[in-house]
Amino acid sequence: SEDIKTAVVTGSNSGIGLGIARALAAEGHNVVLNSYTDSEDDHGLAREIAEAHGNRTVYVKADLSNGDEARMLVEKAAEKFGSVDILVNNAGIQHVAPVEEFPTAKWDAIIAINLSSAFHTTAAAVPMMKEKGWGRIVNIASAHGLTASPYKSAYIAAKHGIVGLTKTVALEFAEAKVAATCNAVCPGYVLTPLVENQIEDQMKAHGMGREEVLEKVMLQRQPTREFATVEEMGGTVVFLCSDHARQITGTTISVDGGWTAL
Ligand code: NAD
Repeated sequence: SEDIKTAVVTGSNSGIGLGIARALAAEGHNVVLNSYTDSEDDHGLAREIAEAHGNRTVYVKADLSNGDEARMLVEKAAEKFGSVDILVNNAGIQHVAPVEEFPTAKWDAIIAINLSSAFHTTAAAVPMMKEKGWGRIVNIASAHGLTASPYKSAYIAAKHGIVGLTKTVALEFAEAKVAATCNAVCPGYVLTPLVENQIEDQMKAHGMGREEVLEKVMLQRQPTREFATVEEMGGTVVFLCSDHARQITGTTISVDGGWTAL
């Protein structure tokens, strides 16, 4: 059908990206899963999603710390399905350390994966969306794209950066007079492997135990005192991809339990 779009979701063999991929598959869209690995599990996940939703799902390996591979991911998706209509820039990593001890290699990797990869995939996808006259780019930023916390300098710099990229691309779509939008989703804490890994780092940085870090460091910023879910992120992306969201562009949508209201 004409309503079937092709969606690329970066970093989607886990966590939020996988939740978004499942939600787009449930809409019947073609879905391209991605990570930097190329395992049986990765391809099995694609088969499992396609069987569950009756859509077409493929897994494409690309290490998004490399700009050329990021562009190739979009090109391969277009080769497979004809074009890329929906691009969700979700891949991300975290590292927690005081700025004066922050390893340069970690800074560079976080800027490359969390920010520059979105520049490269966007640059590859925008011409396809302009040609079709329709497109959706959704960047998964963070509450840390709008606010800061100590010990996360690279992540917060990258997330603020992707909010700026989002606004600029939205203006360029508007200038081109195409029905394409670019927005950022800003999640609060979602209990994914990325957050699980931070718990230990935060325990060290703050000298606290696990429960204390969850309460006093993580959910302390989230007024609902509840983790957001990957299903809620999927639903938000599906809404942004709908025609009802045509005039929502160049903005951020917080799904953060009230974090940024405080
Ligand atoms: P996650 O660790 O479960 O998933 C991250 C995904 O990125 C994985 O699929 C991983 O394989 C992929 N990835 C990492 N490095 C990559 C690389 N070099 N090339 C390709 N793929 C790579 O984490 P998550 O919590 O699901 O995070 C997803 C996004 O959501 C990230 O951008 C993160 O910053 C953002 N986010 C997460 C939270 C949260 O609380 N979990 C909150 C706000 C924003």
